[in-house]
Amino acid sequence: MTRKIADCRKYPSEMNCSLTISGEEDEVVRAASEHAVSVHGHEDSPELRSQVRAALEDERVSV
Ligand SMILES: [Zn+2]
Repeated sequence: MTRKIADCRKYPSEMNCSLTISGEEDEVVRAASEHAVSVHGHEDSPELRSQVRAALEDERVSV
């Protein structure tokens, strides 16, 4: 299973937020959307979630 990463440093922000969230895609989308709402003042919406989902990256697994 490949985990996904949402890296807050990749989102435009004036806060220099360094949070990264990793996990299964649906978990990351939910957690990152909640983070964007609570910390960055975004409005929760299907558009926000699709933006979050589009910005996810595959976690690089080191063996
Ligand atoms: Zn953030």
